[in-house]
Amino acid sequence: MSNNEKSPYCFPRLEIDLARIAHNAGKVVEIFGSRGIEITGITKGVCGDPDIARLMVNSGIKCLGDSRIENIEKMKNAGVNAQFMLLRSPFLSRIKQVVQYADISLNSELSIIRALSDHARKIGRIHEIILMVELGDLREGIMPVDLDQTIEQALLLHNIRLKGIGTNLACLSGVIPDQEKMDALSSLAESIEHKFGLSLKTVSGGNSGNYDWFVSSKNTGRINNLRIGEAILLGRETLHRNPIPGLFTDAFVLYAEVIEAKKKPSAPFGKMAQNVLGESPSLEDRGMMNRALAGIGLQDVHIAGLTPKSQIKIIGATSDHIVLDSGESDLTPGQAVSFDLNYIALCAAMASPYVQKVKKQY
Ligand SMILES: *Cc1c(COP(=O)(O)O)cnc(C)c1O
Repeated sequence: MSNNEKSPYCFPRLEIDLARIAHNAGKVVEIFGSRGIEITGITKGVCGDPDIARLMVNSGIKCLGDSRIENIEKMKNAGVNAQFMLLRSPFLSRIKQVVQYADISLNSELSIIRALSDHARKIGRIHEIILMVELGDLREGIMPVDLDQTIEQALLLHNIRLKGIGTNLACLSGVIPDQEKMDALSSLAESIEHKFGLSLKTVSGGNSGNYDWFVSSKNTGRINNLRIGEAILLGRETLHRNPIPGLFTDAFVLYAEVIEAKKKPSAPFGKMAQNVLGESPSLEDRGMMNRALAGIGLQDVHIAGLTPKSQIKIIGATSDHIVLDSGESDLTPGQAVSFDLNYIALCAAMASPYVQKVKKQY
């Protein structure tokens, strides 16, 4: 919280320190590059923001990945000079856009790959694919036993090039991308190459959750690519959310304006039913306390992913308010309160038209 901050900007606002993100991107490229692993820089956490995409490219990243084709379209139209990888499986309903804007897509369904090939053929293109393998986290991926059959079919498609295989762990279920999982992916790559007499250019082992494996691994095997978002943007690995040494964890700070600050009871008074979330919270009576309201709510950001940067606590939130336990902090209306964001809170704040984005240039 800054005291009586006088600011030309609006609230709520997200301040973005481009120099810190650029530093992180450069470090990530250097750390993983030291052992032959190339980084695909993931931009979905910032809605494909072209300035941030550009700084990733200037930090040595050659390929950018995003889960949403409209973000890739935006970056391409802004003139960002990189290869583009679509992370989320293409929608059959948007095949044209995918072939037009993405150079590579991650895939796990033959019917979709066929549609990509058909459209690529129509417009005289080759579309590259990475086949995703299910190794236990249970989001996208072909079960290993079905992989050979899928490859056999995909290789028949004239306008598809099989660039490699990949996996995604540590996302839905929190399965650890450990040495065993990475060895499994490496040996799948080798068996495919052997069986089909081809060479896989890319073996993409995962995301920011692969950091611990990388630093402890004695043998990274065939893994030569990782798709890294959170570590670049927020400076953390994602198994335990530990800071990565040498990276900034505070490139993004969210500011909201105090709109009420009063001494009030800690427990509600009156007969009780459901709150706005359909819950019936039980609140301990701790007597009178200092409470404040900040003008930002569930519609703007994922409140559970915010951590106040000063000695205040979040009591709860509704669609347009955060209610704060301001403790001994002497808040007054018009002041700013500031928060660190986790990845999901960052995604939501970036996507909210109500949150002003202010980029500190470098
Ligand atoms: C989001 C995503 C990533 C990046 O994950 P981080 O934890 O941000 O590094 C990588 N791969 C896929 C398939 C994704 O959806």
